[in-house]
Amino acid sequence: MDLVPKVKSSAINEWFGRLPGSIGIGNVRYTTSGKCDDKSIIEGTQPVIGVINGLKLALSFNGNIVNTLPLKKEMLDNFEDFIYNCDSDIVCHKMLLALKKGKTLTEAAREVMESLDGAFSVTGITGNGEFFAFKDAHGIKPLCAGHDLHSKTFAFSSETVSFDMNGFVRDFELNPGELVTASPDGFKRIQVIEKPREAFCAFEFAYFARPDSIFNGKYVYEIREDFGRNIVKEFPEIAKDGDIIMSVPETGDDSAMGVHEASGLRWERASRRHRYVTERAFILLNAERYSTIDKKINILGSKVAGKRVIITEDSIVRGDTTKIIIDKLRKAGATKVYVFVTFPRIIGPCFYGIDMSSYGQLIGSRHNEEEIAKIIGADGVCYQSIENLIKATGKTESELCLACITGKYPTPCAQKMADAMKKRFLQGYEEKGRIYENEEIQP
Ligand code: SF4
Repeated sequence: MDLVPKVKSSAINEWFGRLPGSIGIGNVRYTTSGKCDDKSIIEGTQPVIGVINGLKLALSFNGNIVNTLPLKKEMLDNFEDFIYNCDSDIVCHKMLLALKKGKTLTEAAREVMESLDGAFSVTGITGNGEFFAFKDAHGIKPLCAGHDLHSKTFAFSSETVSFDMNGFVRDFELNPGELVTASPDGFKRIQVIEKPREAFCAFEFAYFARPDSIFNGKYVYEIREDFGRNIVKEFPEIAKDGDIIMSVPETGDDSAMGVHEASGLRWERASRRHRYVTERAFILLNAERYSTIDKKINILGSKVAGKRVIITEDSIVRGDTTKIIIDKLRKAGATKVYVFVTFPRIIGPCFYGIDMSSYGQLIGSRHNEEEIAKIIGADGVCYQSIENLIKATGKTESELCLACITGKYPTPCAQKMADAMKKRFLQGYEEKGRIYENEEIQP
């Protein structure tokens, strides 16, 4: 439990003593399926392991499955002892089922790709030592391959930073619908799904990915700088009405640089983050979020007093983080507060691994820009346009998932679920829990 840096090195050395093999997989879980209490989270720790008829599979995945319930039923029908803690159990057992039928690893991966609706970037090890990774047919979540020539070690990772930190060379990003196996001889790439339609998560560029990760040969940081420049171009009058730019550390830091360059305004580092409050407010439960943000961000009062402040933010999901920051700025004497938001207005839920699964929790699904500004106490909220966001990523519209900002989902079950949910939302129904785990709405 908790953050990786808190794991003691003595514990890691002890694991190495107990794990004599030459292949390993692991996962830092961000919970978007299963229960969220401590016990369930520990039980849902990855890799998950499935066994049937002497066949064994260990699997770790990043993403989220949308058609969870019918698959869960299928697994319960086929595995006497199947326990669902999170959707990686489904991916693992679905694959195992195919292997049990005598299918090859490639065929089993194809079966998973064709029958699961959702996002899944998977790493796994079979009982006979095959080390593999694959991405769903839309390649929604990132997954890359790299190696260290000196130690002849081959690796997969969600982002390139882990290669940098371990002195590895980045080789390639997996293609949508691609299976890659790794052995001491290197990587073997197999395109399992022909002509897949890529739908890479656009939110990775704005929020999720680390700024020092590389996508399409560019640091995410550089893309976020472009986001900042774009907003200044789109809202020149507002940029002129500011005295200083301030980022909400660290979420708006990268785009603040772009805003600073394009507007010429001073980037004042007038808000500071508590070094030891490390929780990411976005992924906390509601009750914890308010007090955490309040403890986490401090304002350097005299730097903002009497000033018209432009804050840069990566996104507004519920709006409560930004509202608290604006409130603090007003109390410190800021005369105006504008918010520049790099990710366009989020109008719909995500079913692919970002924990915003209902319309009700999204301020942008209920309100337009003016209303949002009023609710969070800003003088104006300026979102980057979808067109400029796409351009800055270096991908085309058809290569990105933009579902939460356009309402067009790349996979059929997610679209059906979103449509059904929207209908209920417009009728005033408040969703409880995650919709893909709700028996009432199933595609
Ligand atoms: S719906 Fe939004 S957050 Fe979810 S994968 Fe698509 S772009 Fe990313």
